[in-house]
Amino acid sequence: MHYATVKGILSAKNGMNLYRGCQHGCIYCDSRSTCYHMEHDFEDVEVKRNAIPLLEDALRRKRKPCMIGMGSMTDPYLPLEEELCHTRQALELIEKYGFGATLITKSARVLRDLELLKRINEQTKCVVQMTLTTYDEALCRKLEPAVSTTRERFEALKRLRDAGVPTVVWLCPILPFLNDTEENINGLLDYCVEAKVKSIICFGMGMTLREGNREYFYQQLDRRFPGLKEKYIRRYGNAYMIDSPNSQELMKLFHRRCAEAGILHDNDRIFAYLDEFNVKEQAQLSLFN
Ligand code: SF4
Repeated sequence: MHYATVKGILSAKNGMNLYRGCQHGCIYCDSRSTCYHMEHDFEDVEVKRNAIPLLEDALRRKRKPCMIGMGSMTDPYLPLEEELCHTRQALELIEKYGFGATLITKSARVLRDLELLKRINEQTKCVVQMTLTTYDEALCRKLEPAVSTTRERFEALKRLRDAGVPTVVWLCPILPFLNDTEENINGLLDYCVEAKVKSIICFGMGMTLREGNREYFYQQLDRRFPGLKEKYIRRYGNAYMIDSPNSQELMKLFHRRCAEAGILHDNDRIFAYLDEFNVKEQAQLSLFN
């Protein structure tokens, strides 16, 4: 871990990453791609030392409250968050200034802040987004070695449900010849139905590979699934979009099951929902009185 001073924290679309790099080790991680120009080892996480004062300043200056997003590039609940509590401090500011929050994580550490997330949701809006890829726990450990297992994430989703905090699941990536089976998709969807998730984002049954993440992914295939790298190279070459050979059937299954369960599964509508911020009257009054 190392520290850096940054010039700004909120993107034009009100997203932020308090950390840069990640300790979670998912073998398919796109954030490793060279197009992001990271100048340090991916595992040597950069901590933006002035992120919290910058955020407070940005929230104070905003003319209208809105949703603040976290976790698009780096999980906000890395192991080091236990000690640093930057995500927690950011959420406290979001609560204090009457904004809404949404974050993407693969960690049950999110439950540490359950009460805070619940309060934000009661005051304005809070949505927790969680990625699920692999129903089989042993396979999950190989693909995502340092995050909460899928079962643990499922338990976290249920706790969020019980606290009234809405959840959105990202069903991706689906890796050809590894987790691209009906059994896997059905298992994950069973979890989603039981946890009463509001919606599921799925861009297709596949993954992306580009410079930087491809090399790491192939190294990990050699280490954990000997022979599979060659199969990928033969079938996909240097393609960016890597679709499962079972993609069509699995997408049909996905849409059918979501429709049956009443789970929103239209990506455009889900992103519109995540962005939407209608401040409740009471929150506005408490803010400006
Ligand atoms: S949690 Fe996200 S950012 Fe971290 S390694 Fe996994 S995919 Fe990459």
